[in-house]
Amino acid sequence: MINTIDALRESVAALHAELTRYNLVAWTSGNVSARVPGENLMVIKPSGVSYDDITPASMVVCDLDGQLVEGDFAPSSDTAAHAYVYRHMPEVGGVVHTHSTYATAWAARGEAIPCVLTAQADEFGGEIPIGPFALIGGDDIGKGIVTTLTRHRSPAVLMRNHGVFTIGRDARAAVKAAVMCEDVARTVHISRQLGQPLAIAPADIDSLFDRYQNVYGQRPVPPQRS
Ligand SMILES: [Zn+2]
Repeated sequence: MINTIDALRESVAALHAELTRYNLVAWTSGNVSARVPGENLMVIKPSGVSYDDITPASMVVCDLDGQLVEGDFAPSSDTAAHAYVYRHMPEVGGVVHTHSTYATAWAARGEAIPCVLTAQADEFGGEIPIGPFALIGGDDIGKGIVTTLTRHRSPAVLMRNHGVFTIGRDARAAVKAAVMCEDVARTVHISRQLGQPLAIAPADIDSLFDRYQNVYGQRPVPPQRS
């Protein structure tokens, strides 16, 4: 288990660099976590640490009630939301949170992003939904994420007036969903400025989603370390 946690500290620390690379975060906002497979544990970003200072050693380990188990820093203030998702969605291995600009602009209006791009159908299987308004602390954010995502194929939810939470089978997949969510939010926003984007028929969304999830790309690669 020590080796697994060390490997996850490394990969979760490295994945935080993707949030800055794709311009999804400002200052210390945003966070990535990964479930420790087979354990009641997760690896998550520490609270308030600059992205330049994120290292594998600065990542913290918490239990799935959000309590600190191992680490020199306090866990991210969003830890309770990540923990709630892991407790209630056993298939989820990674969670990401950002306030990325375009996606959060949709969240500020409480408006779901309609499915008007084939890439969106591929990745999200339909609209990117809006979750409820919820204050930080307690389980309200986690509940809002789980309730919304269990009703949609989308791995991303726009929490109203707040920002994006994404899930994935591992942390890398959740980061990819966060990057693609912002890309879709931006393109649909820009499209809206010159007119009304055209909807894609539900049957075509289904077929795009099915092909992309099951056929497109390389066969899944087994995890690098166990
Ligand atoms: Zn937030």
